[in-house]
Amino acid sequence: TAPIIIVGAGHAGGRAALALREQGYAGPLLLIGDEPHLPYERPALSKQLLLDSQPADACHIGSAEQYQTLAIERLSATRVSAIAPAKRQITLHDGRTLPYHKLLLATGGRARQACLPGAGLAGVQLLRTLDDAAALRPRLQAGQRLLVVGGGFIGLEVAASARQLGCAVTVLEAGDRLAARALPPLISAKLLALHRARGVEVRLGCQIAAFRGDGSVSAVELADGELLACDTVLVGIGIQPNTELAAAAGLAVGNGIRVDARLRTSDAHIYAVGDACEFPCPVSGQPQRLETWRNAEEQGRHVARSLLGAADAYAALPWFWSDQFDHSLQLAGQLQAAANCVTRPLPDDGVLLFYLDAAERLQGACGWGAGNSIARDIKLAEMLIRSGKPLPAAALADPASSLK
Ligand code: FAD
Repeated sequence: TAPIIIVGAGHAGGRAALALREQGYAGPLLLIGDEPHLPYERPALSKQLLLDSQPADACHIGSAEQYQTLAIERLSATRVSAIAPAKRQITLHDGRTLPYHKLLLATGGRARQACLPGAGLAGVQLLRTLDDAAALRPRLQAGQRLLVVGGGFIGLEVAASARQLGCAVTVLEAGDRLAARALPPLISAKLLALHRARGVEVRLGCQIAAFRGDGSVSAVELADGELLACDTVLVGIGIQPNTELAAAAGLAVGNGIRVDARLRTSDAHIYAVGDACEFPCPVSGQPQRLETWRNAEEQGRHVARSLLGAADAYAALPWFWSDQFDHSLQLAGQLQAAANCVTRPLPDDGVLLFYLDAAERLQGACGWGAGNSIARDIKLAEMLIRSGKPLPAAALADPASSLK
């Protein structure tokens, strides 16, 4: 029999391969990825790995021995270049073709490069892979000047890490606040205050014209002609989902590879998960694409069941975290489309925001603060969201009333 083939040996792909065996699938299984590494989780790349507080192999998903013992065949440093759905066959970059019984696309996304003059200069770095992190780390020595292009999560996490390593750090953001796509204005303002308090220079409403340097970057030129000297630039302006393979095979593609609630694409034998896929929101039914650890983890597990015939819908609650300096941020559920937002102040300038629908049921929550109370509070908020019960806004707003 032909194998189940997984394309993309990142977080969701690695998790799905292991979950297929946990679910009892005993047939042939092939995991193909273009990186040279074992599957791994990416969050540490902008945090622990840069701060040397965790070795690179601590983010691996499974070990080489484990894949071998579980008879999960791995092809690494191998790119899949085409899919022929009618023949149920894929083509590798070297021209070899392989048949599949079922196919899972877990191709993730790639960091977007700035389309500006000088983007190809040495020292203009992106951060998506272990290799990217390994190339960035030696550039963040104390006293080095780092310019971060983009005030989103990757840029801000790298800025915080580099600042803690003693670099001079400037963040250049085109918009009028930080991480505007994901965060409410109040939290953007708190992020800004924290970074500035820790010595990061943050410029909002900043337009970049070019990267300058002779072979290697030495300055960023702004639209008004100002030159900002630097040793390294980190471009953190979002990702491009890797959907080209799916689109070329004729699969439905929107802002990601379109899948149904079982994570199946427009072809009945092909599934998709993780950053690359666009799936129906369990609450609104609207197509959504998430770029988060939990989404990769939970969709990787869920799709293993779908591939083996289960028909239940993917319904995990969205959840995201970011750690910057000694602060953490967590988001759970849906923040958009809420009728009412309730604010609960926390000690040390922390805050919890609760998003309620018109019937006062909790839809989403966002927490920000130092220490680890945020994780506990958001876990409780998740339970309150799942309960679906109406909640009194006054109690949510009152720091003295327990969420339990
Ligand atoms: P990936 O993990 O990117 O895996 C996709 C793999 O497929 C890649 O190895 C890619 O090279 C490979 N591939 C693509 N096309 C092909 C092909 N044609 N042939 C073969 N292989 C192919 N999320 C959070 O919730 N919290 C965080 O704090 C957080 N921090 C992050 C920090 C960084 C620096 C980064 C980069 C991400 C972070 N994330 C975080 C996001 C999270 O890591 C991603 O959502 C997750 O990795 C997505 O998993 P994935 O399997 O969909 O994609």
